[in-house]
Amino acid sequence: MASISQEFSGDVLVIGAGMAGLRIIYELRKQGFSAHGIEAGSDVGGTWYWNSYPGARTDTEAWGYAFFFDEALASEWSWSERYPSQPQMREYLEYVATRFDLRKSFQFNQFVSSARFDDTDNKWVVETDKGNRFSATYLVTACGVLSSPVMPDIVGLQRFKGQAIHSARWPKEKVNFAGKRVAIIGSGATGVQLLPVVSQVAEHVSMFQRTPNYVIPARNNPLVEYDRENLRGRFATMQEQIRNHVFASTFDPNPRSFLDLDEEERDKVLEAKWEWGGFQFVFETFNDFFSNPECNAALAGFIRKKIRTIVNDPKTAEILCPDYPLFSKRPPLGHGYYEAFNRANVSLVDISKNGIEEITADGIRVAGVEHPFDIIIFATGFDAGTGALTDIDIIGTGGVSLRDKWADGPVSYLGICVDQFPNMFMIAGPQGPLSVIPPAIEAECVWIGQVLDKARSQGSDRIEVRPAAAREWKAAVDNSAVGTLLENASSVRSWYMGANVEGKAHVMQFYVGGFKDFADRLEGAVASGFSDLEFSVAHKDRQLDTVKQSAG
Ligand code: NAP
Repeated sequence: MASISQEFSGDVLVIGAGMAGLRIIYELRKQGFSAHGIEAGSDVGGTWYWNSYPGARTDTEAWGYAFFFDEALASEWSWSERYPSQPQMREYLEYVATRFDLRKSFQFNQFVSSARFDDTDNKWVVETDKGNRFSATYLVTACGVLSSPVMPDIVGLQRFKGQAIHSARWPKEKVNFAGKRVAIIGSGATGVQLLPVVSQVAEHVSMFQRTPNYVIPARNNPLVEYDRENLRGRFATMQEQIRNHVFASTFDPNPRSFLDLDEEERDKVLEAKWEWGGFQFVFETFNDFFSNPECNAALAGFIRKKIRTIVNDPKTAEILCPDYPLFSKRPPLGHGYYEAFNRANVSLVDISKNGIEEITADGIRVAGVEHPFDIIIFATGFDAGTGALTDIDIIGTGGVSLRDKWADGPVSYLGICVDQFPNMFMIAGPQGPLSVIPPAIEAECVWIGQVLDKARSQGSDRIEVRPAAAREWKAAVDNSAVGTLLENASSVRSWYMGANVEGKAHVMQFYVGGFKDFADRLEGAVASGFSDLEFSVAHKDRQLDTVKQSAG
């Protein structure tokens, strides 16, 4: 490795240049802190930089998956579809970076390998795989919720002579599917997006499905200027909707309980929302789908009925039908997913019982039968929540390692602070809210800015959460799942519980008490003067090194 060179020393270091990294740099500059970011990719974008596989697009409507910190930004940007494609999401984030001159605060093409809190100097010291060293009083991790790819440990993987690709490390050069036999391993949100697109070009696509998912139709459509004008006029309303919604969506709270209606009326509601498409099918049908098993079963049964109607081959349809509570795994949105199984060049390989036996030089062997392939796509997911953080050697006060501390599952305060890790703040970290991610990012960035501002205004330069407050938050996270259908999430290998990763502790990784409640708690912490945090002065003779910069 090259000799370590010192690259930055200032107030705040930020890891990641995705939505969270961009948003926190903006916030910190606005507050007058010097901040510097480090990013593994060659440009901004995060999730939308790495996940460039065919068919990738948001599962949230464009207007609910965008920044809200600047109304002018919202009105000058033009979304072209209800669900933006990955290229458009990336373009949007590049535009934001340019518009607010954020790129100059980042260094790209280097992966942060370690971050160590230096008790003596009261500084975080970060090192990258390029041999660069950065230090700052504060560290903000903006590494993503779903950004550490999981490659399954399947026998023979290295032997495969064709092209093997993980969906989240999609090659920059075009992958040519024409005339190719393609395997997709994994039927989560990623595999569900890949199949209908790849099968339009490839000679044949085989979907290897271990657990079926409840795929809700997205019903994408182009947006015209009239739609955009309408959205511009709804900026404040949408902000309000997001703030008060359980999943941080641009939907109004749903007052309708399953128990309010008879069977015929319930069916009409379900049919209408199925036709509308999107997560409205879950959040705008009945407000008790999460807690009332009968309600959840009705939604699940409705989807199974649709699968059997859409998919021509009854045997294939049955294999595609899930039988666990809806939402105990994150349901994907589909763009012609079930319809793709009616194509002559698509087949479903059921690996629920025996799994994949091995990968051979020429393909995949299942139950003694070898299926030949030219390309294998691993749509096998992520080490969600903790993965991006435990990939880094993060060492807190007294030499404690974050990996060790979280061996039995994450413990944090509001998903943002960790005791024994002073001056470190996580954006979209584990134990944050289970919701649409960008609104959670924005709320957390504002909150972190407020904490740092308080420290500066009172001359503190060391902030640490009280261990009791972190323990209380862990209990709140655990309790938030009690009595809901998420209690089942571990048995279906849901990433909500870390259950999709071998050897990982199966604990609830996200707060499921609702985004509104989470946002209330953030505000409550501000109102209390951040009473759960301990502010102190590590260096009495030291003034915080602040650089006044405007965010514009
Ligand atoms: P995922 O939901 O974790 O799905 C991974 C898939 O790979 C599952 O079907 C899993 O089967 C399968 N799998 C894993 N290891 C396997 C093995 N050894 N053999 C066979 N199958 C194996 O991952 P994802 O689809 O990448 O999605 C993760 C999350 O990212 C989503 O839930 C969503 O939140 C987000 N995402 C969002 C979008 C969007 O908004 N547009 C798009 C993509 C992803 P089992 O279920 O049996 O474990």
